[in-house]
Amino acid sequence: MMILEDSIKTLKGVGDKIAGFYEKLSLKSLWDLLFYFPRTYLEFPKPIDSLADICDGEIVALRICIQESPKNRKTGKMDITTLNTFVENVPVNMVWFRSPYIKSQLNLHNTYIFYGVIKSDGPHRKKMEQPVIYTEEKYAKELLSVQPIYGLTKGLSNNQIKKNVSDIVNSLEIEEFLPNDLLKKRKLESFSYALKQIHFPDTFDCLCQARQRLVYNEFFAFFLNMEMTKTKEEDVPNHFKLLKNEYYQKCLDGLPFALTDGQKTCLSEVMDDFNGKFVSQRLIQGDVGSGKTIIAFLLMTYMVENGYQAAIMAPTEILATQHYHTFLKYIEDYDLPFEAILLTGSKTVKEKRMVYEKLASDTPCYVIGTNALIQEKANYDSLGLVITDEQHRFGVKQRDAFRKKGKGPFTLVMSATPIPRTLSMILYGDMNISVISDVPAKRLPIKNAVIKQKDVPTAYQFIYKEIRLGRQAYVICPLVEASEKTESENVTDYGKKLRQYYQDTVSVGVLHGRMTAEEKASVMEEFATQKIDVLVSTTVVEVGVNVPNATVMLIENANRFGLAQLHQLRGRVGRGEHQSYCIFVDSSKEDKNKRLDVISHSNDGFYIASEDLKLRGPGDFYGIRQSGEFDFSLGDIYQDAPVLKMASEDVKELFSSDPKLTLDEHAKIKEYLYHLNQHQYTNL
Ligand code: ADP
Ligand code: MG
Repeated sequence: MMILEDSIKTLKGVGDKIAGFYEKLSLKSLWDLLFYFPRTYLEFPKPIDSLADICDGEIVALRICIQESPKNRKTGKMDITTLNTFVENVPVNMVWFRSPYIKSQLNLHNTYIFYGVIKSDGPHRKKMEQPVIYTEEKYAKELLSVQPIYGLTKGLSNNQIKKNVSDIVNSLEIEEFLPNDLLKKRKLESFSYALKQIHFPDTFDCLCQARQRLVYNEFFAFFLNMEMTKTKEEDVPNHFKLLKNEYYQKCLDGLPFALTDGQKTCLSEVMDDFNGKFVSQRLIQGDVGSGKTIIAFLLMTYMVENGYQAAIMAPTEILATQHYHTFLKYIEDYDLPFEAILLTGSKTVKEKRMVYEKLASDTPCYVIGTNALIQEKANYDSLGLVITDEQHRFGVKQRDAFRKKGKGPFTLVMSATPIPRTLSMILYGDMNISVISDVPAKRLPIKNAVIKQKDVPTAYQFIYKEIRLGRQAYVICPLVEASEKTESENVTDYGKKLRQYYQDTVSVGVLHGRMTAEEKASVMEEFATQKIDVLVSTTVVEVGVNVPNATVMLIENANRFGLAQLHQLRGRVGRGEHQSYCIFVDSSKEDKNKRLDVISHSNDGFYIASEDLKLRGPGDFYGIRQSGEFDFSLGDIYQDAPVLKMASEDVKELFSSDPKLTLDEHAKIKEYLYHLNQHQYTNL
């Protein structure tokens, strides 16, 4: 009998070789493979008799009654079969290679469906290469089915995965863990049905039903975990002695700008927490550029001057290093008698050991770092405050690990994700919430433009003008190096191209994730000190990077990015007093890209998220915001907000009737959650 924990190798036909390929996708057990959901689905298009609304390169199913016989010929060693057809008087030439038998399959004056990609062949003709031929009856059957398309790796075909998954769903008994009345009440399909249909949907509707159930599972497990950890910990009384505020006040008085109302409210709310009876947790939500770093610095200063350590964790080394330098500057400017320590993964073992020793000693200090801060070896002596910056880049687990350091520190998480308050309250459980809804008054709104590739040189000239005015620019490309798979721009070649374009008049730097931490730091340093004018970068600058003198952001292949990501990227400019610009290059063939239209007409993260939602079709299965924040693999907090609310209510009700889940009828839920956490799939 098969069990979920079994290795993939127990499947028929899967040996070491294929298991090795699966391992590249981190798939080891049957469970892993069962929860490896299709990346997308292939639906056959309805057959058409006209080419009126069809673009070049589209996949079509053409219904054609053939009036000529196919011809076979040989070019060199290659057999070529051609068939001349007409669709409303437009000649469409069909071509097949190495398939002479096709000639005998097609009967004159019969109607067939030709399925494949249609392309122009000169100004007045079209062609299809290697179209698949169906009879009308056969195609009608295909039309009803929806085929899974999996993420692949070299050596592993879609058919291989299909076969293996099908073996699992057909021979495994997947037990239901939710009570029957709950399924009825929420009109949810059974777990086993959902798992079958998500891989092999009978119809599109079945697929939607299946997804709904699995999304419910994800949310249900998420809230379950939240409740479970909550009941284990009692409220921690506030044992911190927070009496001094001399340096905090000194910094506050010396700021080079006036704080916004949002920032002020946020500070006073956290100060109230610090004076409260219990050690609390708070979410600080503020759009990109709303000024969250200074809030972090001020609050950390307050903790440090009262004799505690205060730590901030950033998702990238670039950002951690930037914060570190920002803090050093503040320390110097305000003449603070405290030390700042940087801890990142790329430090040498010896350096790390020294930092660990410091953390374990009782020196009050600022601690700045990446997730190296939550490694087991990092033990803190007197941690008073932990702050997770750019929270959406971390999972819930990392956030919790940080909170569990020290002896129960105050916790802040900072996020730029525009989540409506009602949803935040559900998702962040019993955390308090502060919202910074305004941006510094002096800032001018960013001006946006969407351009086609042919107009990029004009953008270069515009960048040149800005540089002559003393400003700087970012150019974002999707790739690090040229790729055979796509024609998207890559930073390596782009950097060379721009250097050539500007000759020696502009200094161009290149930044990407494959550089060493030192290289990255030195490029960022050069950009921050204006030794570099134009920074050609991948999305490694997406989060948090702050160079207020940069005023132009040019995003190549912008149509390939999601809206949330574009909004974050654009947030790198418009951070200073100068007018800033964001130029989106649309490399698609469409006349007008809807998403780029949305983002170029608004700078408001909330609006963009809500429009993003409206642009979703029923086939857009994967969330608009694929982020690590909540570890959901299918569920999308916007799109699936109603399911989220349901799951939250259901888990609350469950816990109010059976706080420890000890009732027999709930045993399976507990078992399921245990399974899930074992597999580190909090994402189900
Ligand atoms: P984010 O909220 O995206 O993390 P940052 O904290 O990086 O934003 O702030 C962006 C820029 O705005 C920084 O250069 C910062 O010094 C500046 N800034 C922050 N608060 C204010 C303010 N109240 N007035 C003017 N500039 C501010
Ligand atoms: Mg920030």
